[in-house]
Amino acid sequence: MPASKSLLARFGASLIQWIDSDYTSEPPEVTRARPDGVNFVRCIPFAILHLGCLGVLWVGWSWFAVAAAIFLYVVRMFAVTGIYHRYFSHKTYSTSRFGQFLLAVWGATAVQRGALWWAYHHRHHHLHSDDPEDAHSPHVHGFWWSHIGWITSRRNFPTDYSKIKDLAKYPELVWLNRFDIVVPVLFAAGLLGLGSLLETYAPGLGTSGSQLLVWGFFISTTALFHGTSCINSLAHLMGRRRFQTEDDSRNSFILALITLGEGWHNNHHRYQSATRNGFYWWEIDPTYYGLKLLSWTGFIGGFKPVPPSIYREAEIAAHKDTIHRMTLSSVQDEINTLKRVLPTAAAIALATVNSPEVAAQIKKADGPVIHKDVSELAEQPPASTDSN
Ligand SMILES: [Zn+2]
Ligand SMILES: [Zn+2]
Repeated sequence: MPASKSLLARFGASLIQWIDSDYTSEPPEVTRARPDGVNFVRCIPFAILHLGCLGVLWVGWSWFAVAAAIFLYVVRMFAVTGIYHRYFSHKTYSTSRFGQFLLAVWGATAVQRGALWWAYHHRHHHLHSDDPEDAHSPHVHGFWWSHIGWITSRRNFPTDYSKIKDLAKYPELVWLNRFDIVVPVLFAAGLLGLGSLLETYAPGLGTSGSQLLVWGFFISTTALFHGTSCINSLAHLMGRRRFQTEDDSRNSFILALITLGEGWHNNHHRYQSATRNGFYWWEIDPTYYGLKLLSWTGFIGGFKPVPPSIYREAEIAAHKDTIHRMTLSSVQDEINTLKRVLPTAAAIALATVNSPEVAAQIKKADGPVIHKDVSELAEQPPASTDSN
């Protein structure tokens, strides 16, 4: 095929992929084998998502719209972490087939493509964490590529169904994955409709269809994307490492807050099958609490715990860490003491060397011994005051 025709075919395919993400002008394995490069045409909907935030300049704000944006961030961050990650990627709990379908629809409202595409890439990340094969390692590709660039790359658009056979055997999931734009469009339309109804029937809320669309969809979804992406970028750069995993994953309280518990990324890289990512009560993990609540309804169940061997490993790591810190702190104490004492000692030394008075005093000290031992004093006869 001539180069111009091939380019045209790829351009057309990118447009069709907005609707049918499995459509391709070349075998998917060929696309996946290509070097990284941004597919600008394919990314236009993603760019529109970001640009849509600017709509706030026209629609303004209301308390209701802001609250809706925050609420939808939380509910859909839970969908990403509790559903796309802990269910579809790692199967850390179980549900019925219909329950699984509902979870996939809920997850799709996050506008992070289909559950199968998400799970395929995430499993690939665990297999190749921080090595050159990893699609979003900040150590291999730099911060911005790991945060946002990789998602725009031509080679990362297709889903490799052969690597997620446990999920690809369900046609309803494959359909949702293939037409991954359907749920987000319905979700956005729903917000537009709800806002319009509220404008008519509850004018006291001060919102409108377009305002709810901008805040509830564009702003909330863009924030959700960047919040989630922090795990790909910052969770391999920022925080502490409890477990010496082969990658550079880290545990971060701040990232755990932003992502409802995914910030305990080093824990997760050490043991991926557990339903909880915060291994201790003080490691805040709202996704786990939400899943626990859901399990009480019987909708989901079969949670997988953190095994005792992993806790033992964590205890040994904590013990070593304590000793290391104690050693460092005692050395540091001595260094601090030295820092305080040395200038004074140096000043005294300089003063005593250069001062003639002190030099004279030192000379006087050459005379009779002033300080004597008590026994020596006792043996000596008392000094006579009689000069005769
Ligand atoms: Zn990771
Ligand atoms: Zn994972």
